[in-house]
Amino acid sequence: AKSDRRGTFRFFEPAMDVQLQARRVLEVDLRKALAQGEFELFYQPQVNIAQNEITGFEALLRWRHPERGLISPGEFIPIAEDIGLISPLGEWVIAQACADAAIWPRDIKVAVNLSPVQFRNKGLVSSVVTALANSGLGPDRLELEITESVLLQDNESTLAILHQLRGLGVRIALDDFGTGYSSLSYLRSFPFDKIKIDQSFVRELSSRADCLAIVHSITRLGESLGMSTTAEGVETEDQFIQLRAAGCTEVQGYYFARPKSIRELVFSLGH
Ligand code: C2E
Ligand code: CA
Ligand code: CA
Ligand code: CA
Repeated sequence: AKSDRRGTFRFFEPAMDVQLQARRVLEVDLRKALAQGEFELFYQPQVNIAQNEITGFEALLRWRHPERGLISPGEFIPIAEDIGLISPLGEWVIAQACADAAIWPRDIKVAVNLSPVQFRNKGLVSSVVTALANSGLGPDRLELEITESVLLQDNESTLAILHQLRGLGVRIALDDFGTGYSSLSYLRSFPFDKIKIDQSFVRELSSRADCLAIVHSITRLGESLGMSTTAEGVETEDQFIQLRAAGCTEVQGYYFARPKSIRELVFSLGH
């Protein structure tokens, strides 16, 4: 048995491997993290190319672990999904993002990532309704980002939820576009407001002609479907120039700004 910092005991089977032990420890900590206020939202600007202005911020979740410091979502979100914590956590994210955005200038939107698992839970739509009501944020200033995997779990209830969300007046963006198995057919299944071009295409924009061709096609596809396009993971001026030439609506990436804590953000917005 190993004593943790609060004096409770965790028993490990001798055969349990190190990786599994680490995961169990993280699970135990994760279950307490929400109540202990250890989550934070960082915000990364989305820049409209034609207006040359910030038009929104994407909320990116961070866990400030008391011993390990800042942990990125790639490490804990899959665990939260596995152990049934993603819905309460996702609800907190939606509420916090709406509350934060409510004090920003009126023309700036907030984008929130949703896990496919949240769509299997009944309370998603009502948690959005509650967050909008409590914060006073206009629904058109909230954008929900979903990945193709949401549509992969098929079914009518997923699409019904998306239509209910859209019915509230919130915007729906298709994230990581181009990385799934049948991206094009998903564009037919729901009228998204925005397509986010996956960073894997942007990364090799300058070195690979095929990536450039793909990005051009996606922006034209978006245009003809009435959907705006946002390129993510823009790190260099050269990438930005190519994306502008391709007719992309918005860009997002380290070239413009890294995700910032709300404290830094409010400071930069001049509050
Ligand atoms: P994503 O939605 O595709 O978010 C973009 C990721 O790329 C973020 O990583 C962001 O920090 C990073 N990024 C932004 N600009 C650049 C760039 O120029 N270069 C590179 N290399 N990376 C860049 P992050 O914050 O670690 O988030 C990872 C993923 O975790 C997100 O991918 C999203 O799928 C998920 N995630 C984040 N926050 C939430 C949340 O609140 N709920 C859910 N369900 N998932 C979240
Ligand atoms: Ca996203
Ligand atoms: Ca993405
Ligand atoms: Ca991603």
